[in-house]
Amino acid sequence: MKELSCRDAGFDCDTVLRGETVDDLLDQAGPHAKQVHGIEVTPDRAAQLRTLVRDA
Ligand SMILES: [Zn+2]
Repeated sequence: MKELSCRDAGFDCDTVLRGETVDDLLDQAGPHAKQVHGIEVTPDRAAQLRTLVRDA
């Protein structure tokens, strides 16, 4: 499993996304970022998020 803490991405947010793969995680990060934080996950931002993914 992979996980990505929203806080690590610079948000004051306790959400931790989990997925089987990094791509699965990023599929979840898009809607979360849009619905909760009102931002779009651009390709640049997605590349940055990939560097923050940890093994869970
Ligand atoms: Zn968040």
